[in-house]
Amino acid sequence: MIKVTKSQPAPAILARRGTRHVRQLEKLQEANPAACQAPDNTILHSRDGIYNDTTVKDQLRKDQHKKCCYCESLFTATSYGDVEHFRPKAGYQQEWEGPLHKPGYYWLAYEWSNLFFSCQLCNQEYKGNYFPLRNQAARAQSHAEVLSLEQPLLLDPTQDDPEKHLTFVRDAIKGLDDRGEESIRAFGLDRPDLIKSRIEHLKGLRQMYMLGRFTFNLPLSNPEQEFLDALKLSVAEGREAAEEARQIWQEAALDSAEYAGMVRANFDYLPRH
Ligand SMILES: [Zn+2]
Repeated sequence: MIKVTKSQPAPAILARRGTRHVRQLEKLQEANPAACQAPDNTILHSRDGIYNDTTVKDQLRKDQHKKCCYCESLFTATSYGDVEHFRPKAGYQQEWEGPLHKPGYYWLAYEWSNLFFSCQLCNQEYKGNYFPLRNQAARAQSHAEVLSLEQPLLLDPTQDDPEKHLTFVRDAIKGLDDRGEESIRAFGLDRPDLIKSRIEHLKGLRQMYMLGRFTFNLPLSNPEQEFLDALKLSVAEGREAAEEARQIWQEAALDSAEYAGMVRANFDYLPRH
């Protein structure tokens, strides 16, 4: 997880249709606040056609360099990702696997600062409606209450600096404080398949570093000659492979790189921007 900067202005549909629909939800809540708190009510239902609009998805995907905002896995043709509400729109859980409380943050359903793009595992399998606060008593229960008094335990990639709360020892993610620990649990950042991907990524990078040490300048060293012979490459092809490896290594900690947070924690001398 690394810091994310959202581009401005926000997608126009959020201000246009989103604001209008939020007004309707606010009126519904004001008309019957008690009913909106019933566990199974769906009075304050938001419209996924607005926040899931292609323009919203595209802008989030671009701002996040085509990576999940939490686990930093790159989206592929087979993993599309979800528009994720940092503060859950329909209901929230204060405790992990605890009861769902309503209403959720319905007034933030189309709020640009509350929207992210995340992989389906981080969003659906893990975080879901979990949104613990350090001070549950200060939770905003409606649009009339103040949000700024809340102290969320989960890290917000735009508001927090994830590197102050999370670090890595090789591929293993560690919380540096309770917010880091809570975020690891909530987003499943230590799930086995993700650890496996990070291990493979680190292995690949180390190999890039080693290959990048070769120059293939004439006369060739013995290891360089052996390398070319084993792979049946010409000197020019060897040079090209080594140059590519150096480039991959140099770009491994950029905002746009997969698992940049892990790479930065391991190789803090690599360029970030
Ligand atoms: Zn993810």
